[in-house]
Amino acid sequence: VKFVRFRSAERESYGIQISQDHILDVPALAQEVKQILPPSLDDLIRLGEKSLAEIAHLIDKVHEKDKNIATISLRNAKLLAPLISPPKIVCLGLNYHDHIAEQNAAVPDDLVIFMKPRTTIADPNDPIVKPAFVKKLDYEAELAIIVGKKGKDIKLEEAKHHIFGYTCLNDVSARDIQFKDKQWTRGKSFDTFAPMGPCITTTDQIGDPSNLWIRTRVNSELRQNSRTGNMVFNVYQIVRKLSQVMTLEPCDVIATGTPSGVGFAAKPEPKFLELGDVVEVEIENIGILRNCVAGAN
Ligand code: MG
Repeated sequence: VKFVRFRSAERESYGIQISQDHILDVPALAQEVKQILPPSLDDLIRLGEKSLAEIAHLIDKVHEKDKNIATISLRNAKLLAPLISPPKIVCLGLNYHDHIAEQNAAVPDDLVIFMKPRTTIADPNDPIVKPAFVKKLDYEAELAIIVGKKGKDIKLEEAKHHIFGYTCLNDVSARDIQFKDKQWTRGKSFDTFAPMGPCITTTDQIGDPSNLWIRTRVNSELRQNSRTGNMVFNVYQIVRKLSQVMTLEPCDVIATGTPSGVGFAAKPEPKFLELGDVVEVEIENIGILRNCVAGAN
């Protein structure tokens, strides 16, 4: 299932993507048959595996005419970042062999982690806001894990059961600030520096999370083109190792690092983002997360 959050006719809701152009408004559909479902996608994820069963049951029992009533054209809806308020956004640095190689860094023997505040979240198609004093704005395509179940010291073989699904995240970075500071928080924490979406693909539909292609295009030019198989630590090892540090909670977002092809490592010259650029992060079995770069007002 691909879950989306959207706004349509002044109302925010969530649903399931049923085709390229159409979504099914899940709470509206439930209302048609007097079934009660959580009011938000965050709440649905917190309900756990039970929620997926309830939705499957709902879709089984409704008639086509009810489905039609609850179907919305994407032309009449604006997609929103799939999560409204994740408890935390944890990010990995230096987790792709090809990205480590392009900057002549050493392969770390453990997770390199940092965090972004949730005020960095931007919706699909919304601008990435570049403050005028940021001169070296860069993109990073990342597969983001959406945690589904609370856990601490999660065993490797249990890790999959703690993952609700996956989305695309652009770990936007101000390189001038990131490299000047001794750590990365300031350079990666500006508002809108974590566009997310366009959907959450559930764990049962993603395929093998260690074998997905991941790409970035800037103004249609292919910049990043890799596979999640190039990760140093795969998604299950990440869940395992991260949970040895902190309790993972439903709706936590874990951005799993970026492959090679980032702007600062481009040859012969770095290629930073400029006002008006359109950045597309695309991951197999999820979709395209598109944002443009705009100036601050
Ligand atoms: Mg990153």
